[in-house]
Amino acid sequence: MKKIIIVGAGFSGSILARKIAEELNMKVTVVERRTHIGGNAYDEYDENGILIQKYGPHFINTNKYYVIEFLEKYTELFPHDTKLLSYIDGNYVRLPFNFRTLQQLVGAKKSESLLAKLRSEFYGRDRVPIFELLSSGDNDIKAYGELLFEKAYRTYTAKQWGIPPESIEKSVLERVPMAMSFDERYLNKDFQYLPVKGYTEIFRNMLDHPNIDLQLNTDALSHIRFDENEDLVLYDGEKVDCLIYTGAIDELFGLKYGRLPYRSLKIDYDYYDEYQVLPCEIISYPQAPGYTRKTEYKQFTPNRPDIKKTVVATEFPLEYDPDSAEANIPYYPVLTTNSTQTYQKYIKEVEKYNNIFLCGRLAEFKYYNMDICIEHALQYYENIKEYLTND
Ligand SMILES: Cc1cc2nc3c(=O)[nH]c(=O)nc-3n(C[C@H](O)[C@H](O)[C@H](O)COP(=O)(O)OP(=O)(O)OC[C@H]3O[C@@H](n4cnc5c(N)ncnc54)[C@H](O)[C@@H]3O)c2cc1C
Repeated sequence: MKKIIIVGAGFSGSILARKIAEELNMKVTVVERRTHIGGNAYDEYDENGILIQKYGPHFINTNKYYVIEFLEKYTELFPHDTKLLSYIDGNYVRLPFNFRTLQQLVGAKKSESLLAKLRSEFYGRDRVPIFELLSSGDNDIKAYGELLFEKAYRTYTAKQWGIPPESIEKSVLERVPMAMSFDERYLNKDFQYLPVKGYTEIFRNMLDHPNIDLQLNTDALSHIRFDENEDLVLYDGEKVDCLIYTGAIDELFGLKYGRLPYRSLKIDYDYYDEYQVLPCEIISYPQAPGYTRKTEYKQFTPNRPDIKKTVVATEFPLEYDPDSAEANIPYYPVLTTNSTQTYQKYIKEVEKYNNIFLCGRLAEFKYYNMDICIEHALQYYENIKEYLTND
């Protein structure tokens, strides 16, 4: 019988555990440091019956229908287009910045010629990164890009990432492009869904298999050792056939090359004796001091007239610090030239060992969304399958 350990019960670890347990009929031990499954997608009901996503709001957005079909094996989903507003200069404007935002920010009259210029310069494009507006040869388009950049991107980025926009990898900033239409959806993905009973149920069902042994509240780092002579990773002093690690790679190697930077979040909850308080499910606050977003979770689920109260979660981004009470969960990898170089050093360490596999947002130090995480874990399973069935 093979000894297979998976570290982490988030999307990456849970998907791989289920596939190995079910399709290869092999026993798998899933080790999770937290007291619950689901990783950062974990949710739970509060005392008023509102489903709260403990680590921040998550929406399923994908262009690949097989991602939806895969999730539907474990839960029921309902279509939900993610909608956001941004609070700028005392007004709510649409996010992503779209043609309506432009009308709101520059005024209806002035917007007419600018809309025509944008339509012509970006003909056929659905979404355009703000950098393309900034580098436009047309002075009016460029000026509008600068207006957006100064009023929203610069301040939001500084809070979210703790560093100036110039230092962060461009792909991260390109995640919120401008919509070249009146499209109000936050992301222009074809399939946008939420789970009817929440995310935790997905993980509960996925990990519910006779071949899976789940150990919560267990930090794998105190069990993992490296045998440099044999080029193998050991667990509890014994050789394992396969160790799939979905935690932070720098921690795995005792921060040998220094700590990789992550952003964390402090989330404050305010309860209201009202049915609903925000004009939209999520509001972005680029100009507010310290916080970036507010989420009213009640708006995620279909109308619940029976729940009279509501709750708003406010996110305060902080530097990840495992010793701090407020910011001890790594949420977002901070991708800069330096951090990418450090990550490569850790990868060289991993390559020395034959029986360890890295998968997921933290282990691969990538800004994966759930859909990409799911696709990636499903593809990665094929490599693991080959490895486990070929030796
Ligand atoms: C605030 C926020 C909002 C997001 N919103 C969206 C969204 O709207 N849509 C979207 O698609 N994606 C969203 N994401 C991304 C999504 O959370 C990730 O893609 C996904 O959760 C990554 O899954 P994972 O399994 O790779 O990592 P994780 O969910 O981080 O799971 C890793 C698990 O490993 C455990 N672990 C780590 N080290 C150890 C150890 N030493 N021993 C034992 N266990 C360990 C951790 O406790 C954790 O449970 C968001 C992320 C954040 C932070």
